[in-house]
Amino acid sequence: MKKVAISACLLGEKCRYDASDNRDEKLLSLLRGAELISFCPEDDAFGTPRPTMDLIETKEGHKAISNSSGEDLSSPVIEYAAAFFERHTDIDLFIGKDRSPSCGVCSARLYNEEKNLLSSQEAGLMAKEAIKRGIECFDAEKF
Ligand code: SF4
Repeated sequence: MKKVAISACLLGEKCRYDASDNRDEKLLSLLRGAELISFCPEDDAFGTPRPTMDLIETKEGHKAISNSSGEDLSSPVIEYAAAFFERHTDIDLFIGKDRSPSCGVCSARLYNEEKNLLSSQEAGLMAKEAIKRGIECFDAEKF
C-alpha cells in the first residue's frame, strides 16, 4: 500500500489560517486505497486561526514572514517538517496544498522584501524538505 503524506486541510481538517478547510473529494477518490498520513505545520506551530504569512526572498534564502508582525516564522515550520520525515521514513508520495507558503510544491508565491511578486512556482518550506529527501511531490491541483 502506498504511503502518502498529505496536507491535512485537503482531507477536510479545518486547519487553514481562518479555520476553514480545502477538502478535495476528487483528489481523495484518486487516493482511495493509499495510506494517508496528514500534516499541518502551521496549525502545529501557530494554532488555528492564525495570521497569514508569505514566502519572502531574503539574503539568507526563502523565509516565511508573518503578514501581521513581520516576524520570521520559518524555523518552526522547517523543524516540524524535519521531525515529520524522521518519524515517517517510508513516504512514497507527498501531496501539498497548492499555493501554500508551507505546503505548495511548485505553486507557492515568492515575494521580495518590498512585497513585489517574484515567482508563483516555488516550493513552500515543508514541501522543500520533502523534495530534499527525494520524495515524489505533487501539488494537489496537479495530481
Ligand atoms: S496548506 Fe498546509 S499549512 Fe496550510 S492549512 Fe493546509 S496543511 Fe496546514
